[in-house]
Amino acid sequence: MTAIFPHKKAKALKAGSRRPAKELCSECGLCDTYFVHYVKNACAFINQQIGALEQQTHGRERLTSRQLPILENPDELYFGVHQQMMAARKVEPIEGAQWTGIVSSIAIEMLNRGMVEGVVCVQNTKEDRFQPMPVIARTPEEILAARVNKPTLSPNLSVLEEIEKSGMKRLLVIGVGCQIQALRAVEKQLGLEKLYVLGTPCVDNVTRAGLQKFLDTTSKSPDTVVYYEFMQDFRVHFKHEDGSLETVPFFGLNTKELKDVFAPSCMSCFDYVNSLADLVVGYMGAPFGWQWLIVRNDTGKEMLELVQDQIETQPVTSQGKRQEAVQQSIPAYDKGVTLPMWAAKLMGVVIEKIGPKGLEYARFSIDSHFTRNYLYVKRHHPEKLESHVPEFAKQIVKQYKLPE
Ligand code: FAD
Ligand code: SF4
Repeated sequence: MTAIFPHKKAKALKAGSRRPAKELCSECGLCDTYFVHYVKNACAFINQQIGALEQQTHGRERLTSRQLPILENPDELYFGVHQQMMAARKVEPIEGAQWTGIVSSIAIEMLNRGMVEGVVCVQNTKEDRFQPMPVIARTPEEILAARVNKPTLSPNLSVLEEIEKSGMKRLLVIGVGCQIQALRAVEKQLGLEKLYVLGTPCVDNVTRAGLQKFLDTTSKSPDTVVYYEFMQDFRVHFKHEDGSLETVPFFGLNTKELKDVFAPSCMSCFDYVNSLADLVVGYMGAPFGWQWLIVRNDTGKEMLELVQDQIETQPVTSQGKRQEAVQQSIPAYDKGVTLPMWAAKLMGVVIEKIGPKGLEYARFSIDSHFTRNYLYVKRHHPEKLESHVPEFAKQIVKQYKLPE
């Protein structure tokens, strides 16, 4: 006879032991729990199933040019199934949040109104502001303690066993694409009445050691960095402990040194915009200083409505043309070309003036990362290329000429 919960007999893999996805593992945390039983189906890097999970979550897959010519549906092809997109910011930003704190505010409202009993989010350890520590927050203070990005791979799903054992029935999970893909795959086994998913886009994540190398190579004062972001003005912004801001143009990054700093999982990821979340909160499709919201389904709409009186909004816009800049950057990145700083700064100023903005900037970033990642999978895991790259990503990559 088959057990009702066969996973409960499985044993979590010990931290540090090899994961089934091997070097592509993003340390999402699933394998730290008895849900490892489902890993071959659930892991985003073993079984790419975004289309099937879009169907399960949103009731349909995103439209690709199979249904419509590429130029007629660029929004859905790029940004996934959605009802609405907008730019938004909190009227009173949360101090110390990554942007204005829309993510933390929604989570707090959901808890305060009794819509959920707990929120899966990521705090940091006492010793290290960048070392992620996933928790199930049960108070607004615990949610606030998780604000701001931990720009490192985070085992968010390591708390899944705790959720099932706690008997919680209504839960909010905050997470990035690879975590959410595995979560959606085991959602039905969690015994929940309602799962809400608040996602952020995610790209170029690193291990803790990789982060140190990135900070040491790029910032003038790596030990005092409290926050950083790759911004729409084509610069990396580092915020330091004393509140000062340091900016470094993308084109001045030491690409040769940094080439293998990003985790192999992130070099082979095609779910930049968190296709399976109910609501996505990022920044890259919005004007500088604003956040970018993608409402994917009715659950996401319900979540956003909770903070309508705390935010101001404006429609998303799109300006410029990205394709030429993307095409030129492909061989430059591939060869690890680094410009001298004066040239990088000049290029940054020019491209900021005439380069892509709003949704076109988001497409620029998606195109640049998908072409890079496609080449990475082709070269390092050719046997996975066909099944691992989703159809929408293949169509995006096809617009460009790639080196062998
Ligand atoms: P806050 O209120 O500060 O809350 C941040 C939330 O993020 C917290 O609830 C915390 O639990 C969660 N979190 C922090 N670190 C992690 C982690 N490592 N894994 C999972 N969850 C985490 N947006 C873009 O538009 N383009 C990008 O390229 C992009 N890259 C990102 C890369 C990473 C690693 C992360 C975590 C986010 C990224 N984002 C990106 C999203 C963006 O930086 C903000 O997180 C988002 O706009 C929310 O801002 P906020 O002020 O509302 O969040
Ligand atoms: Fe396991 Fe997650 Fe790593 Fe896949 S990415 S092997 S599910 S821990």
